[in-house]
Amino acid sequence: MENVLLHSCCAPCSAAIIEWMLAHDIRPTLYYFNPNIYPQDEYVKRKNELSRHCARLGLEVIDGDWDHESWREAVRGLEHEPERGARCQTCFNVRLEAAARKCHELGLGRFATTLASSRWKSLEQVNAAGRRAAGRWDDVEFWERNWRKDGLQERRGVLLKTYGFYNQHWCGCEFSWRDTLLRDLQRLLGDAPKRD
Ligand code: SF4
Repeated sequence: MENVLLHSCCAPCSAAIIEWMLAHDIRPTLYYFNPNIYPQDEYVKRKNELSRHCARLGLEVIDGDWDHESWREAVRGLEHEPERGARCQTCFNVRLEAAARKCHELGLGRFATTLASSRWKSLEQVNAAGRRAAGRWDDVEFWERNWRKDGLQERRGVLLKTYGFYNQHWCGCEFSWRDTLLRDLQRLLGDAPKRD
């Protein structure tokens, strides 16, 4: 089986990708590196859900640091950017730089990320961050693939129900939390799109 590093943001975004990899003789080592998630309780909740699922499958999860202060420093000045804007590009850069470094340290050669499995995120931004991060190492390649295709988007929904995963309603940071609350308020007053 080929081994790859799979940077993972949460169980709902990871389960269908993990399932697909195992069915294709690829064994992922999970890397939970998400210092963007706020508050810390939420970070732990998402991490525990992923760890529970991976324990069922016998897969290793490596826990990155929750250094939210450094993440805040990286996105300083971008607090009012919308989702898919400049703050998200920086956020992806931070997380995938760490994933590429971990991939190099472990000698795994190739890494992928679950970040683009949600339709709320920009695949172009995620792929740009992955290519940029991999470019720093001679022995690391970013696996650029659309993880929403080949039925994976639908499978994501099925596995979410099958395992009853905790499924958050905001992307991760305090700014996405704020924007989700504002959207909820708008929905109460009129019409606004709902996150999946
Ligand atoms: S909205 Fe999501 S991707 Fe964008 S900065 Fe916040 S946590 Fe990162």
